[in-house]
Amino acid sequence: MSSIFDVKGLHEECGVIAIYNVNHASENIYYGLHSLQHRGQEGCGMVVRNDNNELNRIKGEGLVNEVFNKDKLNRLEGKTGIGHVRYATQGGGGIENVQPFLFHHHGGDFALAHNGNIVNSKELRKYLEDNGSIFQSTSDSEILAHLIKKDSAEVNRTQVILNALNMLEGAFAFVIITKDKIYACRDKYGLRPLSIGTKDDGYVIASETCALDIIGAKYLRDVNPGEVVVIDSNGITSFDYSRYKHHYMCAMEYIYFSRPDSDIENVNVHAFRKESGKRLFEESPVDADIVVGVPDSSLSAAIGYSEASHIPYEMGLIKNKYVGRSFIEPSQELRDQAVRMKLSPVRSIVTGKRIVLIDDSIVRGTTSKRIISQLREAGAKEIHVRIASPQIISPCFYGVDMSTYDELISAHHSCEEVCKMIGADSLSFLSVKSLKEIAHRHEMCTACFTGKYPTELYSSVYEANKDNK
Ligand code: SF4
Repeated sequence: MSSIFDVKGLHEECGVIAIYNVNHASENIYYGLHSLQHRGQEGCGMVVRNDNNELNRIKGEGLVNEVFNKDKLNRLEGKTGIGHVRYATQGGGGIENVQPFLFHHHGGDFALAHNGNIVNSKELRKYLEDNGSIFQSTSDSEILAHLIKKDSAEVNRTQVILNALNMLEGAFAFVIITKDKIYACRDKYGLRPLSIGTKDDGYVIASETCALDIIGAKYLRDVNPGEVVVIDSNGITSFDYSRYKHHYMCAMEYIYFSRPDSDIENVNVHAFRKESGKRLFEESPVDADIVVGVPDSSLSAAIGYSEASHIPYEMGLIKNKYVGRSFIEPSQELRDQAVRMKLSPVRSIVTGKRIVLIDDSIVRGTTSKRIISQLREAGAKEIHVRIASPQIISPCFYGVDMSTYDELISAHHSCEEVCKMIGADSLSFLSVKSLKEIAHRHEMCTACFTGKYPTELYSSVYEANKDNK
């Protein structure tokens, strides 16, 4: 299945939420998942624990409001649960890959949901299968569950989870529910975000703070890299599964994925993007009549560029909000058509104008080319493209689907060549240095811009790219 969202060629993998001891957990998880919908549209699900400590699950393929309704939410009674929205990268689509995964086990039932990508999944899967594990799905999220089950002889489940996490390499944010606890775990590199909030007498944990806000939870703190937060009737307890800790937050969370109203490690996403627009002007000024942002994720950067340059910001492109999911094949022709349906130039605004066109990234270049051609057809005089991120030269192995190495236009072409290929009058990208400065951090994953990966890359990664690199 392909979706109309595919036009960008850049996708987050998933979003997770967990709620502990909050009335009507299923409704709160529903609204939380709704606010995380931008992180995955292929499927979603939730598991809620009832008063008898039984775990009940509903999941399905589709958007949150397609999978759930009032009747289904009422069936999931309880005050504690976890939820997930999925974008199918690793492991592909299909209902069996929709999370949370629920396991019945003599050591106690448990369910888990995951955001990210485990880079040593192939090695771990082989090790587990050689030791008798049978997988229900092709998703590597299930690997943690099998590692937990493998150590079932141990009584202390928290220790079992710490041991299991120590075997995983890569990017992950896991939430796990058992008969009496919620666990929230974040990888030791700090690649994927996970925040904790409080609501009434309970807790909420989510991939983005916008999910806390929507259900009225108050932000408490982030789960730290390498930390496992355990929530039960004693409150919050914290464990480190690893002493190795870094803060390599994915730069794309700030640039593209997260909602502008979310704060990622205490930096607001809208503020970050606005500042990136300002820096972009300082690094690459241009004389023009109007600044136009590509909706929606580039609008904050366009406002920043406009404010810094004193060139007026204009709504030169309109997004069609009612273009939904589509079951089209991902051919180039249909992708072009999808862009046409999704974005329309405002002729009366762009005709005869010299435009600074702000976008958040260039992946394949096909979207930029199409937008520029649409703006020219609508009468734009000059189009100067400014990109609020550096050139993408390497694929992501940490759960972001951004096309193969072969398809990345900047992996094979200089800025000048890309400028010609997309038909712009000029083109500039934000520097990596500015990217880190804007987020006020000396550590940040910028591997897709630099080719320098913060983790070791295992065989599955090399095999996926052996023909390309
Ligand atoms: S490689 Fe790029 S997209 Fe992937 S985690 Fe790093 S910054 Fe994010």
